[in-house]
Amino acid sequence: MAKSDVDVVVVGAGFAGMYLLHELRKNGFSSRVLEAGDDVGGTWYWNRYPGARCDIGTTDYQYTWDPELHEQWQWSEKHAAQPEILRYAQFVAKKHDLYSGIDFEVRVEKAAWNDETKQWSVHTSTGETITCRHYVMATGCLSVPKDPDIEGTDRFTGDVYVTGRWPHEGVDFTGKRVAVIGTGSSAIQSMPHIAAQAKEMVVFQRTPNFSMPAFNGPPPQDRLDRLATDRAAYEAEARMSPTGVPMPMATVSALAVSRDEAFAMLEKSWQRGELLTIGGTFTDVGINRAANDVVCEFMRSKIREVVKDPEVAETLSPRDFAYSTKRPCMDTNYYEMFNLPHVRLVDIRKHKIKSVTETGIDFGDESKEFDAIVYATGFDAMTGALVNVDITGKNGITLKKKWESGPLTYLGLTTVGFPNFYMITGPGSPSVLSNMMVSIEQHVEWIRDALVDMRAKGFDTIEPTPEAEEDWRVHCTDCADITLFQDTNSWYMGANVPGKPRVLFPYIGGVGRYRRICTEAQQRGFLGFELQGNGKRQLNPGPVRLMQPDVEMMLDVMATLELPPIEAMSPAEARGFMDASAAMRAPGPDVGEIVDGTFPAAAGDLEYRIYRPASAGPHPIVVYYHGGGWVLGSHTSDDPLCRDLCKRADVMIISVNYRHAPEARFPAAVDDAWDALAWVADNAEQLGGDANRIAVAGWSAGGNLAAVVAQMARDNAGPKLRGQLLLTPVTDGSRQSASYTENGEGYVLTKNVMEWFWNHYASAEDRKHVKASPLLAESLANLPPAMIVTGQFDPLRDEGNAYARALADAGVDVKRIQARGHIHTSITMVDMLPSGQSIRAKMASGLRGFFAD
Ligand code: NAP
Repeated sequence: MAKSDVDVVVVGAGFAGMYLLHELRKNGFSSRVLEAGDDVGGTWYWNRYPGARCDIGTTDYQYTWDPELHEQWQWSEKHAAQPEILRYAQFVAKKHDLYSGIDFEVRVEKAAWNDETKQWSVHTSTGETITCRHYVMATGCLSVPKDPDIEGTDRFTGDVYVTGRWPHEGVDFTGKRVAVIGTGSSAIQSMPHIAAQAKEMVVFQRTPNFSMPAFNGPPPQDRLDRLATDRAAYEAEARMSPTGVPMPMATVSALAVSRDEAFAMLEKSWQRGELLTIGGTFTDVGINRAANDVVCEFMRSKIREVVKDPEVAETLSPRDFAYSTKRPCMDTNYYEMFNLPHVRLVDIRKHKIKSVTETGIDFGDESKEFDAIVYATGFDAMTGALVNVDITGKNGITLKKKWESGPLTYLGLTTVGFPNFYMITGPGSPSVLSNMMVSIEQHVEWIRDALVDMRAKGFDTIEPTPEAEEDWRVHCTDCADITLFQDTNSWYMGANVPGKPRVLFPYIGGVGRYRRICTEAQQRGFLGFELQGNGKRQLNPGPVRLMQPDVEMMLDVMATLELPPIEAMSPAEARGFMDASAAMRAPGPDVGEIVDGTFPAAAGDLEYRIYRPASAGPHPIVVYYHGGGWVLGSHTSDDPLCRDLCKRADVMIISVNYRHAPEARFPAAVDDAWDALAWVADNAEQLGGDANRIAVAGWSAGGNLAAVVAQMARDNAGPKLRGQLLLTPVTDGSRQSASYTENGEGYVLTKNVMEWFWNHYASAEDRKHVKASPLLAESLANLPPAMIVTGQFDPLRDEGNAYARALADAGVDVKRIQARGHIHTSITMVDMLPSGQSIRAKMASGLRGFFAD
């Protein structure tokens, strides 16, 4: 007789529930696993439609936790079919005696948290109530078929099938007239099989999908070789990869090569017959629409190659969404099927389905009879299975109510108000955007480790903090914002179910980085969680330090390059290195005109570069000082940023050079910066600018110079400045603030590099001079309006913020932008890091604000 009070209740006996059961037993936790079906397998138990296969290859879609399985189980194909995957699940369940721990044909109807007893009460369809300390939903992301949402579906008297609930005994369509509604993965896989039997088949398509042939056969030799040579290394790579499948990292933009070259590269990816290779061919398919269009065009050309009727080919060709923002499909003979005389495609955008009738379907101006209708209309994905169970947390709040406007989770694993409640591959985790096996194992292990740790430390409850949940929501949004997903109506966005909130449900920051974040949260004393038990309380609200996804990706790439540290170089070597790096960056947008020239400074002529907008002048003028720690750089070294600001703000940017250290130490750069401003003010009209609208701007050491000359202009009674835009400025060389400790390593500008800059530029005594450390000025009153941008992971963050506060205290109008998840250099990386765009848009709007009369 199963116990009705256990440590853990797990709902679902798919691959997640099975592995969790194994780990719970191994670690001495009592458990009940409740499963609605009559066998293990989860999605592979329910989805038995003909042709059902896994789109992730068998080399990657299998458990890694039991190494013996790799000897004991041999996959027959590259992409396993549903019966073989189900047999695998059964094999594992038998091998590990999991059947004895699972209650089959039991549905959970209700679960409620009792804050007095610190337990969950779980009510089942058999009338049993089970109490448990921890409650885990391992119910899968695509397990609740959605209502087809078509008029008259209950009237049809013929046979009705739903791909996600296919009869176990199979279906014989021989001689039948069959309608299939939907053209997602399930339909695309099943239709060629149905068409092979049916007398007539009509495909009702609302949105065409991208599909590529699976080229099924034996598993790819290169993957088999890698597994044979070093399985552990292969699996480790999978766990830290973006998708959970080891793949070479793309290194080139789709826009950096000719169309022919791009198509040749895509053809190579295509020939691999792997789900993720096409999208991974170039660096920017997921984030840049023009790059994505190259892939879309390639995919459409493939449809035209196969489908003989050009009109049908065009109807099958997706035109209105970016590749991979709807889940791409893998098929066997899908497009070929449309060349068969008894298969017909109906575009229901043109010929709307009016109603299902007793005998068939009325659409367009036709009324057609069918013997069978197959609904391949998809799922209430990600949240359907979670909110379909009545789950009540603290204070009587249900999960359904809490998530009315979209799921809120911390790490996609837990949610505030629901202590000791866990979701495996929940919303806010990589889940459906990953190899599910890798993600399932990671979540199971995270939950197992949490339970073991809590038990060892005597804690009874764990619950995320509201701060952590909010941080995670913001981070998920940051990640989604730089992709193309949000423009597409997909089930990823909840768009397939009427009334569902529109958010990107899975986490798109990548499997490896997600794992790092989850591991860090656990290792740093359950960062973002509150734990209680035995009169003890441990609260570690955060901060959860989350970097912009593209910035982190860039750091990952840089880490692989093992670049020499700047501080180990001579200034000449460092300058050579910076020039070489600059040659590889994206150029930035076109502007109206670029003019180079020189201006007279006290110590001789210095260069400038003017960026003029395409619009008619005279324009407001921004005198710009480049970054580079007073040692590196020139008037052209921030070229992409200057172009971007010129274009966005519609202002003239005059980037001026100044003498560099160590050849010319403090205050040479200040003197030159001042001479440049004075010269621009005197010659504004000849330069085509507006003498009454001048501001200064600068990045890093250039931000320092801009702040200093703004003070000098105030003290010298001119030139009159309209504003100062300081991007991650140096403001105080006299001491190192806390951000040096937090961000001193690993974020490009390091503590050591900054020290190297200062040492070349100014003596310890000079650093305290107000012209080196503008924050130390006696008064900051009467300075021009300022916009100060600081990066969260910048060693200079605190001194930038301190300058902003000090200016505000002195009555200066200050706008502060705290660039969440950014480092010192990332905001300047125009056209390379999309997450910097919104910051630069705000900077441009700040510049416009300076000049608004
Ligand atoms: P799906 O991708 O959501 O496709 C549903 C299809 O039905 C879409 O074409 C949709 O059109 C159409 N549809 C929905 N309601 C409709 C209506 N009222 N009238 C007309 N058409 C309607 O669902 P799925 O094919 O079951 O696949 C879901 C996910 O499961 C996949 O994306 C994949 O992640 C997973 N899956 C994986 C595999 C595999 O690994 N091999 C196989 C099957 C499924 P719209 O696009 O216009 O909404």
